[in-house]
Amino acid sequence: MADAHKLDCESVSDTCRFIIQSENEEEAVELAKKHMKEVHGQEVADDELREEHLQIV
Ligand SMILES: [Zn+2]
Repeated sequence: MADAHKLDCESVSDTCRFIIQSENEEEAVELAKKHMKEVHGQEVADDELREEHLQIV
């Protein structure tokens, strides 16, 4: 089974329960960036998302 890349928005925001999960890291990062911008009004760098927020599950 392939690893999945998961971002739990709870690690960024105490109030948001949004979870992104994808087997494709690029896609997970893109979705996370979009969510951060649209919902939280934050521009988050790809590297920051990968290093600090994405988990391998
Ligand atoms: Zn969120």
